[in-house]
Amino acid sequence: MNTTETTYTPEQIWSFLEEVTDPEIPVLNIVEMGIVRRIDLEKDGVVVRITPTYSGCPAMHAIEMEIHNKLREKGVEPFQVKTDYSETWTTDWMTEEAKRKLKEYGIAPPGKKGEEDDVLKGLRKTKIIPCPYCDSLETELQSEFGSTACKSQYYCHSCEEPFEHFKCI
Ligand SMILES: [Zn+2]
Repeated sequence: MNTTETTYTPEQIWSFLEEVTDPEIPVLNIVEMGIVRRIDLEKDGVVVRITPTYSGCPAMHAIEMEIHNKLREKGVEPFQVKTDYSETWTTDWMTEEAKRKLKEYGIAPPGKKGEEDDVLKGLRKTKIIPCPYCDSLETELQSEFGSTACKSQYYCHSCEEPFEHFKCI
């Protein structure tokens, strides 16, 4: 028995979700952020599984609403959005394209997880974040927290511009 009304393929649904952007970083969509984990066609309809980014990130509720609105707008019925906590979201799930767009947007993208872990473990003294505007390494951490908890605030001594760094987790 097949009770699924939806005639869309998972590929089409992935492309619909690429139209949903992160409210805090409007240049990034939730697919390239690595938030959407799976799309399955199950007997009760489409099941979209998402993993929240930073825990307690207030944007997640907004993102979930956006997914509902987008799927309704596209006529995907019936569907469910489930939150999957089986793995913890990491910045390594962001695509290279997403990191490139972040930089273009003026936010220094997160590095690879291992590299920044070295700094935390004290294997290296400083974490050098290149300036997203001029690529200079003459940058300085000003605050661990920028406009949101997931970003830190830096200053570039070469182009004298402040910028944010999307922290690696
Ligand atoms: Zn600079």
